[in-house]
Amino acid sequence: MPLPGEEMISKRIKFSEAERSRVLRALQRIVGSERATANPAIRYGYSGTSMVLPKAMPDFVVRPRNVADIQKVLLLARKRRIPVTPVASGTQEPSTYPWFGGIVLDTLALNRILEINVGGAYAVVEIGVSIGQLAKALQKENLRLAMGSFPPGISVLGNYLMTAANSHRSSGIMDDVLGLEVVLADGTVFQTGSKAFGHTYPALGWHYPSNTFPNVKNLFLDAGGTLGVVTKGAVRVYQMNEAQTLPVSAFESYAQALEYMKRLSRANLVQHICAWHWPLYTIIDHLGRYGRGAPAEILLYDPWTKPDERPYILVVPSMSGYREVIAAGEQAAKRITEELGGRIYTEECREKWPGAWKFFADHYRDHQPTNQFMGGFGEGFPLMPMVIADPNRVAGLEQWGLRFLRKSPLRLALSYYSHSLDQCRSVFLRMTTFVSPESSPKEIERAAATRQKYLEQAFRRYGAIPVRYDYGHPPGAVLNKTGGQAQVLKAIKRALDPENILNPGMSLSMYGRF
Ligand SMILES: Cc1cc2nc3c(=O)[nH]c(=O)nc-3n(C[C@H](O)[C@H](O)[C@H](O)COP(=O)(O)OP(=O)(O)OC[C@H]3O[C@@H](n4cnc5c(N)ncnc54)[C@H](O)[C@@H]3O)c2cc1C
Repeated sequence: MPLPGEEMISKRIKFSEAERSRVLRALQRIVGSERATANPAIRYGYSGTSMVLPKAMPDFVVRPRNVADIQKVLLLARKRRIPVTPVASGTQEPSTYPWFGGIVLDTLALNRILEINVGGAYAVVEIGVSIGQLAKALQKENLRLAMGSFPPGISVLGNYLMTAANSHRSSGIMDDVLGLEVVLADGTVFQTGSKAFGHTYPALGWHYPSNTFPNVKNLFLDAGGTLGVVTKGAVRVYQMNEAQTLPVSAFESYAQALEYMKRLSRANLVQHICAWHWPLYTIIDHLGRYGRGAPAEILLYDPWTKPDERPYILVVPSMSGYREVIAAGEQAAKRITEELGGRIYTEECREKWPGAWKFFADHYRDHQPTNQFMGGFGEGFPLMPMVIADPNRVAGLEQWGLRFLRKSPLRLALSYYSHSLDQCRSVFLRMTTFVSPESSPKEIERAAATRQKYLEQAFRRYGAIPVRYDYGHPPGAVLNKTGGQAQVLKAIKRALDPENILNPGMSLSMYGRF
């Protein structure tokens, strides 16, 4: 079985040397000679070099300075039918790859924070503004932003444009984008939400994500750069309240942890709450204390056979508010933990797992980006099945998933973490099937097949849907399971990008034939 992407790469666009030079010169006329290149050393950096899936080099890398540059590049690409793959921070979950070659449009140089609207609790940022950059600027205003466990260099909008499992999801806020500015394949620029009326009333702000018409903004979330190029957006920011805390609870089963997450989030006691399986918090601890890599003993153990008295699962809530309210919330958390058969583990966590504690505190209490999580996942990253599951069935998925993945031909151990979303109306579960840089192509292939089987069962038996891209499946296979919705999205893609220049690799993978 070919690895996902291999077939597509064989169909990539082919330029003659003369055409290549002509296109390069045209691109350089638009953005300046230092901002458009065909240098293979630079192109290689955009080929998915850190991932286990096949590499695909673009023909050109272009770094626009502003919206006008983007419009002109798209018009040129449209005229010559050259694929354009937009990239923000380019952490490249697999389908970002320029499977068909063409232009990678690196938007990271659009990196200005345009506004911090303290009264309106939002910030307006260009696509290249990073999480670290915005977090630092917000700190001065006693504000913070929702973030995941990713490093500070990741683009705020690059992340928020995807289904993001971030630090405010348990409260019910499912995305942090209030509005976007988008350039379409034909060069049209528009803004969404309340700001759309800025076209007629320029003083209008970005405060409301909709505007009495169908919500166009949402079309560009999870679109993977297939419908338009996002240049800026307004994002929610949050107050740094007078008290922030994270009482850690320890449980001996996922079912208990899940019930705890449900009770706390439905009583509005937490902004966010997440459960960490023991091999994973052990790895995070190791990374925090010693740098990269996962301890070998963890990779070799059964997911159920803990090496000592460490808890099976830690649940870490993020609480923030007035002092009196938070003190009462901590009391309630303790009582509920004990009612469910768990124990408060905050002090022990700090003492026994200082590396993990630091990660939890950076992330859930201080709301600062962290560098330490995920390093240990290395090349296993693209093979991790992420799902959003039905809370009534997700505990079954955890049990079945561990058994299934343990029996799979993968050599290495596995772990998971699980976020409560929208007051636990749904539950994010990400189980990790480890492969390593030393894994053979055969093992990687098996890992990809295992991932596919897992997702199919998750759909079928546990009410779970996949998160983000459907890489690793035949083109369009996942979207086609949605029936009528697939027809609607394909029609929208045809209407907005009739020449299919916008991320055609991702488009094929996502929409199939359209
Ligand atoms: C160590 C690590 C930890 C992580 N932890 C979390 C976590 O806790 N929570 C979470 O939600 N995620 C997490 N992630 C995933 C991470 O959020 C994504 O990798 C990242 O947000 C993608 O953003 P990017 O800017 O790198 O996107 P890119 O790789 O640049 O692009 C992603 C997709 O968006 C498209 N795109 C890029 N720029 C534009 C544009 N200007 N207009 C239109 N489309 C565009 C691309 O074509 C591509 O399809 C983690 C990733 C890493 C590496």
